[in-house]
Amino acid sequence: MNTERPHATVAGTAVSVDHYIGGRRQSSPETFEVRSPLDWSLKLADVSAGDSGTAAAAVSAACEAAEGWAGLEPAGRGALLRRLADRIDETVGPLAEIECLDMAMLLESLQQRVIARGALNFRAYADLAESYTERTWCSNGTDNRVERMPAGPAVIITPWNAPFMLATWKVAPALAAGNPVVLKPAEWSPLSASLLADLAHEAGLPPGVLNVVQGRGAEVGAALVADERVRRISFTGSPETARAIGAAAAANIVPFTAELGGKGPLLVFEDADIEAAARTAAGQYDDSGQVCLAGTRLLVAEGILEEFLERFDAHTDAHVLGDSRDPATTISPLIHPDHLARVEGFVERARRAGDTVLRGGHRSRPDGLWYEPTLIRPASNGSEIVQREVFGPVLTLQTFTDEAEAVRLANSTRYGLSGVVFTGSAERAERVGRAVRAGTVWVNCFLVRDLTAPFGGCGISGLGREGGDYALDFHSDLKTLQIRDGTTA
Ligand code: NAD
Repeated sequence: MNTERPHATVAGTAVSVDHYIGGRRQSSPETFEVRSPLDWSLKLADVSAGDSGTAAAAVSAACEAAEGWAGLEPAGRGALLRRLADRIDETVGPLAEIECLDMAMLLESLQQRVIARGALNFRAYADLAESYTERTWCSNGTDNRVERMPAGPAVIITPWNAPFMLATWKVAPALAAGNPVVLKPAEWSPLSASLLADLAHEAGLPPGVLNVVQGRGAEVGAALVADERVRRISFTGSPETARAIGAAAAANIVPFTAELGGKGPLLVFEDADIEAAARTAAGQYDDSGQVCLAGTRLLVAEGILEEFLERFDAHTDAHVLGDSRDPATTISPLIHPDHLARVEGFVERARRAGDTVLRGGHRSRPDGLWYEPTLIRPASNGSEIVQREVFGPVLTLQTFTDEAEAVRLANSTRYGLSGVVFTGSAERAERVGRAVRAGTVWVNCFLVRDLTAPFGGCGISGLGREGGDYALDFHSDLKTLQIRDGTTA
């Protein structure tokens, strides 16, 4: 491993292109190229591509930091995490611009909400870890206590969508629980994680407590999850990668959480506020549909289909495909030419299989990575376009005649990350909300989140739960301590 290489300048800010290990920057001889989805001719950086040696060095740094970090009281760790949150807040501008160039999320929402949520993740977990009270009770003549012990080094692997928000969401509980972390961001959008390392450094996190390693999943990622010194693995990405990581975790008997893809149903009943439902349905095209929680299967009551579609079309027509830095833009380009080709492949196969493309179904212009908001009426519920996650601006439309059919269709894929229900009936809200099999179900709303609630998926959408105390428990070894008073033994 070599010493640091010159930083890249992205949106006027210097961004390190190297790993951050044990509090220092270290480069790899091999690099990979990062380009901007806003303009594919724009190269942003040549980033160090780590290998198995990089992974081993990062885990060693985490192991060296483990005892000191675990030995701090929650309040001591919390103070440092709050300082990191403050540095994020002070750096919203550059973080938002870099994330926008790197992943093409809309600049305005990054500036106003998404980056701030990253800071909130650290504050929320600092608060939660500090407020933990051990469960204590007496039985069998002993005092019983349940104690959280920091589990040890955690490896965190994140996907290319919403990279800063997702990295902070996963790093914060691991650190708050007392574990040092090795974070590996995705190759297609690695830059905000590099800035996070700088901010952690400036906030005074001790060397080795947060390490950021760059590189390809099959190389440095695979080496990280196979390292037997790692005690927790927290992953967000696709089910295919989860299978490989799960096998590595099983080999070392390491607990592993997986937040995976989705194919959420969005149900609209006859008694719903059809305008609100149609507006929310058209909103599923936001971020070009590269959102795991999106309700991509529209399930609409037969009797209101015409009115729903009229309103849905009006909201979809109002979308503006454009440069994510322009406040007028509502639909950004897709992340990468390979991903655009993947989305095109899904729609082409759907056409060939006899599904009907009701709107969109093609790139919006030859010189960019935009894809038209697309709506497909499948030939059957078994169609690939209904059953597999596209992760692009592609929705399907199906109808139902009664509540039982609606629930059956909602629960008819192997996924179970999220569901959305629109109804005007409080009884139906309860019934259908409970009947939809998913980690999160929103009724008459969408994307409202409380960070203390559990988050995760059923079926192939995930394994385990993160969020709130669930994440802190995951990153801890729970111990039952039973003490009998020595004088009566
Ligand atoms: P991916 O599975 O291809 O990659 C995710 C990460 O895993 C990347 O950092 C990659 O480098 C790494 N990786 C790949 N192979 C690896 C291996 N063998 N060992 C270790 N690491 C490896 O997923 P992606 O394409 O980056 O992300 C899109 C997917 O993520 C979609 O399915 C989306 O639904 C899902 N996602 C889920 C959530 C959630 O919270 N449930 C959130 C965002 C995205």
